[in-house]
Amino acid sequence: MADKPLAGKVALVTGGSRGIGAAIATRFAADGAKVVVNYARSAGEAEKVVSGIKQAGGDAITVKADVGQPAEIPPLFEATVKAFGKLDILVNNAAIMQRLFLPDVTAETIDAHFNVNVRGYLLCCKYAAERMTSGGCIINIGSAISRMAYPGAVVYTATKGSVDLMTRVLAAELGPKGIRVNVLAPGSTITDMNSEKSGKTQEEADQEIAMTALRRQGLPVDIADAAAFLASNDARWITGTWLDVSGGIRL
Ligand code: NAP
Repeated sequence: MADKPLAGKVALVTGGSRGIGAAIATRFAADGAKVVVNYARSAGEAEKVVSGIKQAGGDAITVKADVGQPAEIPPLFEATVKAFGKLDILVNNAAIMQRLFLPDVTAETIDAHFNVNVRGYLLCCKYAAERMTSGGCIINIGSAISRMAYPGAVVYTATKGSVDLMTRVLAAELGPKGIRVNVLAPGSTITDMNSEKSGKTQEEADQEIAMTALRRQGLPVDIADAAAFLASNDARWITGTWLDVSGGIRL
Protein backbone atom coordinates (compact mmCIF):
# COMPACT_ATOMS: atom_id res chain seq x y z
CA MET A 1 0.00 0.00 0.00
CA ALA A 2 1.31 3.46 -0.86
CA ASP A 3 2.34 5.71 2.04
CA LYS A 4 -0.20 8.27 3.13
CA PRO A 5 0.61 11.73 1.64
CA LEU A 6 1.80 13.22 4.95
CA ALA A 7 3.37 10.06 6.45
CA GLY A 8 6.43 10.92 8.54
CA LYS A 9 5.48 14.62 8.77
CA VAL A 10 4.84 16.65 11.91
CA ALA A 11 2.26 19.43 11.68
CA LEU A 12 1.27 22.22 14.07
CA VAL A 13 -2.16 23.80 13.61
CA THR A 14 -2.79 26.95 15.62
CA GLY A 15 -6.41 27.25 16.72
CA GLY A 16 -6.97 23.57 16.03
CA SER A 17 -9.68 23.17 18.64
CA ARG A 18 -12.65 24.35 16.58
CA GLY A 19 -13.87 25.18 13.08
CA ILE A 20 -11.45 25.23 10.18
CA GLY A 21 -8.40 24.45 12.34
CA ALA A 22 -10.04 21.33 13.80
CA ALA A 23 -10.93 20.10 10.29
CA ILE A 24 -7.37 20.69 9.06
CA ALA A 25 -5.84 18.89 12.07
CA THR A 26 -8.16 15.92 11.52
CA ARG A 27 -7.44 15.74 7.78
CA PHE A 28 -3.66 16.04 8.23
CA ALA A 29 -3.75 13.19 10.78
CA ALA A 30 -5.80 11.07 8.38
CA ASP A 31 -3.12 11.77 5.78
CA GLY A 32 -0.48 10.36 8.15
CA ALA A 33 0.94 13.44 9.90
CA LYS A 34 1.54 13.65 13.64
CA VAL A 35 -0.40 16.72 14.68
CA VAL A 36 -0.15 19.33 17.41
CA VAL A 37 -3.60 20.80 18.08
CA ASN A 38 -3.04 24.25 19.59
CA TYR A 39 -5.77 26.09 21.45
CA ALA A 40 -6.10 29.11 23.74
CA ARG A 41 -9.31 28.55 25.69
CA SER A 42 -11.25 25.53 24.40
CA ALA A 43 -9.39 22.69 26.14
CA GLY A 44 -12.36 20.32 25.93
CA GLU A 45 -12.83 20.94 22.21
CA ALA A 46 -9.11 20.43 21.56
CA GLU A 47 -9.18 17.14 23.49
CA LYS A 48 -12.17 16.01 21.38
CA VAL A 49 -10.20 16.68 18.18
CA VAL A 50 -7.25 14.67 19.51
CA SER A 51 -9.38 11.75 20.69
CA GLY A 52 -11.13 11.64 17.29
CA ILE A 53 -7.72 11.48 15.61
CA LYS A 54 -6.53 8.73 17.96
CA GLN A 55 -9.71 6.69 17.49
CA ALA A 56 -9.06 6.81 13.74
CA GLY A 57 -5.54 5.44 14.33
CA GLY A 58 -3.64 8.74 14.16
CA ASP A 59 -1.30 10.52 16.54
CA ALA A 60 -1.88 13.98 18.02
CA ILE A 61 -1.50 16.06 21.18
CA THR A 62 -3.01 19.28 22.43
CA VAL A 63 -0.82 22.25 23.42
CA LYS A 64 -2.32 25.32 25.08
CA ALA A 65 -0.85 28.67 23.99
CA ASP A 66 -2.45 32.02 23.27
CA VAL A 67 -0.68 33.11 20.09
CA GLY A 68 -1.67 36.69 20.87
CA GLN A 69 0.80 36.54 23.79
CA PRO A 70 4.37 36.56 22.43
CA ALA A 71 5.78 34.81 25.52
CA GLU A 72 3.49 31.81 24.94
CA ILE A 73 4.69 31.15 21.38
CA PRO A 74 8.23 29.72 21.83
CA PRO A 75 7.00 27.11 24.38
CA LEU A 76 4.42 25.96 21.78
CA PHE A 77 7.21 25.16 19.32
CA GLU A 78 9.39 23.62 22.03
CA ALA A 79 6.49 21.35 23.04
CA THR A 80 6.00 20.31 19.39
CA VAL A 81 9.62 19.28 18.93
CA LYS A 82 9.71 17.64 22.36
CA ALA A 83 6.68 15.50 21.51
CA PHE A 84 7.40 14.60 17.90
CA GLY A 85 11.10 15.41 17.30
CA LYS A 86 10.72 18.00 14.52
CA LEU A 87 8.34 20.33 12.66
CA ASP A 88 7.51 20.06 8.95
CA ILE A 89 4.20 21.92 8.54
CA LEU A 90 2.81 25.01 10.26
CA VAL A 91 -0.77 26.12 9.70
CA ASN A 92 -1.30 29.64 11.02
CA ASN A 93 -5.03 29.46 11.53
CA ALA A 94 -5.87 30.99 14.95
CA ALA A 95 -7.48 34.36 14.38
CA ILE A 96 -10.22 36.58 15.75
CA MET A 97 -12.91 38.53 13.92
CA GLN A 98 -15.18 41.17 15.39
CA ARG A 99 -17.64 43.08 13.23
CA LEU A 100 -16.67 46.72 13.69
CA PHE A 101 -17.83 49.72 11.73
CA LEU A 102 -15.45 52.67 11.84
CA PRO A 103 -17.18 54.53 14.70
CA ASP A 104 -16.61 51.48 16.91
CA VAL A 105 -12.96 50.98 15.96
CA THR A 106 -10.62 51.76 18.87
CA ALA A 107 -6.92 51.36 19.56
CA GLU A 108 -7.82 48.39 21.75
CA THR A 109 -9.83 46.57 19.06
CA ILE A 110 -7.11 47.23 16.48
CA ASP A 111 -4.44 45.86 18.84
CA ALA A 112 -6.53 42.83 19.78
CA HIS A 113 -6.91 41.82 16.11
CA PHE A 114 -3.35 42.57 15.06
CA ASN A 115 -1.84 40.86 18.12
CA VAL A 116 -3.37 37.52 17.15
CA ASN A 117 -3.95 37.73 13.38
CA VAL A 118 -0.69 39.43 12.37
CA ARG A 119 1.90 39.45 15.17
CA GLY A 120 0.89 35.93 16.20
CA TYR A 121 1.16 34.64 12.60
CA LEU A 122 4.52 36.32 12.02
CA LEU A 123 6.09 35.11 15.26
CA CYS A 124 4.84 31.58 14.56
CA CYS A 125 6.47 31.79 11.10
CA LYS A 126 9.73 32.86 12.77
CA TYR A 127 9.81 30.03 15.31
CA ALA A 128 8.64 27.48 12.72
CA ALA A 129 11.28 28.50 10.15
CA GLU A 130 14.02 28.14 12.80
CA ARG A 131 13.03 24.49 13.19
CA MET A 132 12.15 23.55 9.61
CA THR A 133 14.47 21.97 7.10
CA SER A 134 14.13 21.73 3.32
CA GLY A 135 10.63 20.50 2.48
CA GLY A 136 9.03 22.60 5.22
CA CYS A 137 5.67 24.18 4.54
CA ILE A 138 3.82 27.12 6.07
CA ILE A 139 0.14 27.68 5.29
CA ASN A 140 -1.23 31.03 6.41
CA ILE A 141 -5.02 31.03 6.60
CA GLY A 142 -6.02 34.34 5.08
CA SER A 143 -9.47 35.26 3.83
CA ALA A 144 -11.23 36.05 0.57
CA ILE A 145 -12.23 39.24 2.37
CA SER A 146 -8.79 40.75 1.74
CA ARG A 147 -9.79 41.12 -1.92
CA MET A 148 -13.27 42.43 -1.18
CA ALA A 149 -14.58 45.60 0.42
CA TYR A 150 -16.80 44.37 3.22
CA PRO A 151 -18.37 47.10 5.38
CA GLY A 152 -17.94 46.42 9.10
CA ALA A 153 -14.76 44.46 8.63
CA VAL A 154 -12.09 47.13 8.20
CA VAL A 155 -9.87 45.95 11.06
CA TYR A 156 -10.13 42.25 10.26
CA THR A 157 -9.60 42.93 6.55
CA ALA A 158 -6.48 44.94 7.35
CA THR A 159 -5.08 41.97 9.26
CA LYS A 160 -5.82 39.57 6.41
CA GLY A 161 -4.23 41.95 3.89
CA SER A 162 -1.12 41.88 6.09
CA VAL A 163 -1.16 38.09 6.03
CA ASP A 164 -1.19 38.15 2.21
CA LEU A 165 1.80 40.48 2.04
CA MET A 166 3.87 38.79 4.75
CA THR A 167 3.34 35.49 2.97
CA ARG A 168 4.82 36.77 -0.30
CA VAL A 169 7.86 38.23 1.46
CA LEU A 170 8.44 35.09 3.52
CA ALA A 171 8.03 32.86 0.47
CA ALA A 172 10.88 34.81 -1.15
CA GLU A 173 12.98 34.79 2.04
CA LEU A 174 12.50 31.13 2.95
CA GLY A 175 12.39 29.66 -0.57
CA PRO A 176 16.19 29.24 -0.76
CA LYS A 177 15.93 27.07 2.39
CA GLY A 178 13.37 24.87 0.63
CA ILE A 179 10.47 26.13 2.75
CA ARG A 180 7.21 26.96 0.97
CA VAL A 181 4.84 29.66 2.27
CA ASN A 182 1.32 30.11 0.90
CA VAL A 183 -1.98 31.75 1.77
CA LEU A 184 -5.11 29.65 1.79
CA ALA A 185 -8.02 32.06 1.60
CA PRO A 186 -11.42 30.68 2.63
CA GLY A 187 -14.62 32.44 1.72
CA SER A 188 -17.70 32.38 3.93
CA THR A 189 -17.41 29.13 5.90
CA ILE A 190 -19.81 27.84 8.55
CA THR A 191 -17.97 27.93 11.90
CA ASP A 192 -18.45 29.59 15.29
CA MET A 193 -16.77 32.70 13.81
CA ASN A 194 -19.29 32.90 10.99
CA SER A 195 -22.72 31.67 12.11
CA GLU A 196 -25.60 32.48 14.45
CA LYS A 197 -23.10 32.01 17.30
CA SER A 198 -21.25 35.13 16.18
CA GLY A 199 -24.45 37.07 15.55
CA LYS A 200 -24.71 36.40 11.82
CA THR A 201 -28.27 36.49 10.49
CA GLN A 202 -29.71 34.11 7.90
CA GLU A 203 -30.23 37.11 5.62
CA GLU A 204 -26.50 37.91 5.76
CA ALA A 205 -25.64 34.27 5.11
CA ASP A 206 -28.00 34.26 2.12
CA GLN A 207 -26.31 37.38 0.75
CA GLU A 208 -22.92 35.66 0.99
CA ILE A 209 -24.30 32.54 -0.70
CA ALA A 210 -25.62 34.71 -3.55
CA MET A 211 -22.09 36.12 -4.02
CA THR A 212 -20.61 32.67 -4.70
CA ALA A 213 -20.55 30.99 -8.08
CA LEU A 214 -21.25 27.62 -6.46
CA ARG A 215 -24.18 29.01 -4.43
CA ARG A 216 -23.45 27.80 -0.91
CA GLN A 217 -21.32 28.55 2.16
CA GLY A 218 -18.16 26.56 2.66
CA LEU A 219 -17.73 23.83 5.26
CA PRO A 220 -14.55 23.42 7.31
CA VAL A 221 -13.85 20.19 5.42
CA ASP A 222 -13.80 22.12 2.11
CA ILE A 223 -10.96 24.22 3.51
CA ALA A 224 -9.17 21.23 5.06
CA ASP A 225 -9.08 19.38 1.73
CA ALA A 226 -7.37 22.35 0.07
CA ALA A 227 -4.91 22.62 2.99
CA ALA A 228 -4.07 18.93 2.57
CA PHE A 229 -3.16 19.64 -1.06
CA LEU A 230 -0.98 22.65 -0.18
CA ALA A 231 0.83 20.62 2.50
CA SER A 232 1.42 17.65 0.22
CA ASN A 233 4.22 16.88 -2.20
CA ASP A 234 1.76 17.55 -5.03
CA ALA A 235 2.17 21.27 -4.19
CA ARG A 236 6.00 21.08 -4.10
CA TRP A 237 6.34 23.75 -6.83
CA ILE A 238 3.82 26.14 -5.31
CA THR A 239 4.99 28.97 -3.07
CA GLY A 240 4.03 32.60 -2.51
CA THR A 241 0.57 31.99 -3.89
CA TRP A 242 -2.91 32.96 -2.69
CA LEU A 243 -5.29 30.06 -3.05
CA ASP A 244 -8.92 31.13 -3.18
CA VAL A 245 -11.11 28.48 -1.53
CA SER A 246 -14.41 30.30 -1.57
CA GLY A 247 -16.66 28.57 -4.11
CA GLY A 248 -15.94 31.51 -6.40
CA ILE A 249 -16.94 34.49 -4.29
CA ARG A 250 -17.50 37.72 -6.24
CA LEU A 251 -15.96 36.39 -9.45
P1 NAP B 1 -13.39 29.92 14.87
O1 NAP B 1 -14.51 28.98 14.63
O2 NAP B 1 -13.65 31.16 15.66
O3 NAP B 1 -12.19 29.12 15.56
C1 NAP B 1 -11.04 29.84 15.89
C2 NAP B 1 -10.00 28.91 16.45
O4 NAP B 1 -8.85 29.70 16.76
C3 NAP B 1 -10.42 28.22 17.72
O5 NAP B 1 -9.87 26.93 17.72
C4 NAP B 1 -9.79 29.09 18.81
O6 NAP B 1 -9.44 28.31 19.94
C5 NAP B 1 -8.52 29.55 18.13
N1 NAP B 1 -7.98 30.79 18.66
C6 NAP B 1 -8.55 32.02 18.66
N2 NAP B 1 -7.73 32.90 19.22
C7 NAP B 1 -6.61 32.22 19.58
C8 NAP B 1 -5.40 32.58 20.18
N3 NAP B 1 -5.16 33.84 20.60
N4 NAP B 1 -4.45 31.62 20.39
C9 NAP B 1 -4.67 30.34 19.99
N5 NAP B 1 -5.81 29.94 19.41
C10 NAP B 1 -6.77 30.88 19.21
O7 NAP B 1 -12.77 30.41 13.51
P2 NAP B 1 -12.76 29.75 12.04
O8 NAP B 1 -13.92 30.28 11.31
O9 NAP B 1 -12.52 28.30 12.14
O10 NAP B 1 -11.49 30.51 11.44
C11 NAP B 1 -10.24 29.87 11.25
C12 NAP B 1 -9.40 30.72 10.30
O11 NAP B 1 -10.11 30.87 9.05
C13 NAP B 1 -9.14 32.15 10.79
O12 NAP B 1 -7.84 32.52 10.39
C14 NAP B 1 -10.17 32.96 10.05
O13 NAP B 1 -9.79 34.31 9.93
C15 NAP B 1 -10.19 32.24 8.72
N6 NAP B 1 -11.40 32.47 7.92
C16 NAP B 1 -12.63 32.07 8.35
C17 NAP B 1 -13.74 32.29 7.56
C18 NAP B 1 -15.12 31.86 7.95
O14 NAP B 1 -16.08 32.24 7.24
N7 NAP B 1 -15.28 31.08 9.02
C19 NAP B 1 -13.59 32.93 6.32
C20 NAP B 1 -12.32 33.32 5.90
C21 NAP B 1 -11.24 33.08 6.72
P3 NAP B 1 -9.93 28.65 21.43
O15 NAP B 1 -11.41 28.50 21.46
O16 NAP B 1 -9.20 27.65 22.24
O17 NAP B 1 -9.50 30.06 21.71
